Amino acid sequence: MKIQKNYNLSKLNTFGIEANAKNFTGIESEADLKELFNLPEFKQNKKMFLGGGSNVLFTKDFDGFVVLNKLKGIEIIEENSEYALVRAMSGELWHELILFAVKHGLWGIENLSLIPGTVGAAPMQNIGAYGTELKDTLFDIEAFEIETGVKKIFTKEECELGYRESIFKNKLKGKYFISAVVLKLSKLENKNIVYKTLQEYFDKNKITEYSLKNISEAVASIRRSKLPDPKILGNAGSFFKNVFLGKDKLGAFLEKYPDLPYFEDDGSIKIPAGWLIEQCEFKGYRKGHVGVHEKHALVLVNYGGATGKEILELADKIITSVKEKFNVELVPEVNIV
Ligand SMILES: Cc1cc2nc3c(=O)[nH]c(=O)nc-3n(C[C@H](O)[C@H](O)[C@H](O)COP(=O)(O)OP(=O)(O)OC[C@H]3O[C@@H](n4cnc5c(N)ncnc54)[C@H](O)[C@@H]3O)c2cc1C
Repeated sequence: MKIQKNYNLSKLNTFGIEANAKNFTGIESEADLKELFNLPEFKQNKKMFLGGGSNVLFTKDFDGFVVLNKLKGIEIIEENSEYALVRAMSGELWHELILFAVKHGLWGIENLSLIPGTVGAAPMQNIGAYGTELKDTLFDIEAFEIETGVKKIFTKEECELGYRESIFKNKLKGKYFISAVVLKLSKLENKNIVYKTLQEYFDKNKITEYSLKNISEAVASIRRSKLPDPKILGNAGSFFKNVFLGKDKLGAFLEKYPDLPYFEDDGSIKIPAGWLIEQCEFKGYRKGHVGVHEKHALVLVNYGGATGKEILELADKIITSVKEKFNVELVPEVNIV
């Protein structure tokens, strides 16, 4: 196993932030993982597993061991006429798993097409888009306790998945490496096309056949046209989570802000964080190397040469403004390292 010192991570995070890892290696198999767990340098250092780097902000050099996950493989491990259990190794690109599902006629994750990053990071924040979340199809996950190297299966319930949350982002933060994910996908048509943007796309492109492939391609196409490509403009997608309010608070909000967009979600009221940021006039804001995307108030961007600290300072400024104006606390979705 090759260990590299002072490894530059700028190409391994979609913000494109320059940060060095004191020690760096990649793993391609469970055998590599076992070797890693026995390495003294690994045991003695702070550790971080990295997938596609599309949900992290490095604010300083990483004074420890960064492990790039390259575990590959996707297979159907059980199936009947109604469903298939699909096991994907955690270093697979998430979109490769989508392509596998579409090819095999398996429904359930097509609305999550083209979300950047790896399969193993998907449960970390219960990825979601276009009215679907990972938790709708997750069966279980396989993970290794980082301290002991002991393997454990987590059932879906044990993962404690919520809105951009899981046990691995909370109680078990930094404690487990997710090595494989098993999804239960449907062989029976199971489309979810209620999202307005999707419907508009189908209407505009005169698509009337809502096949798995058409839905997946529609989602991918909408995403390509709407979201900034990190290869061109450094970003990590939505920087903040949307905000949930108790129903009792809605009346007062609407009185003050009659245009407030909101959605009912699981008995709470969800307010788009992007709208709150826009009201604080940050959309299109730019200072030095950093800014807020001109079309997406939720997306913070690196215009080139930014440090993680500069992005964090901008995030703090936004949090303060939103708090002052709305008395609402924005919470970052991105993992700050
Ligand atoms: C343009 C853009 C659009 C996006 N759109 C969406 C969206 O629509 N919905 C959505 O939910 N997210 C979205 N994201 C965020 C991101 O794509 C997801 O959070 C994705 O799951 C991150 O995967 P990753 O492999 O890049 O994780 P990384 O950024 O590499 O890691 C994220 C965190 O998970 C940890 N981690 C990674 N892999 C493992 C593992 N195997 N075991 C244990 N811990 C691990 C890391 O240590 C880190 O703390 C978007 C990002 C971008 C850049």
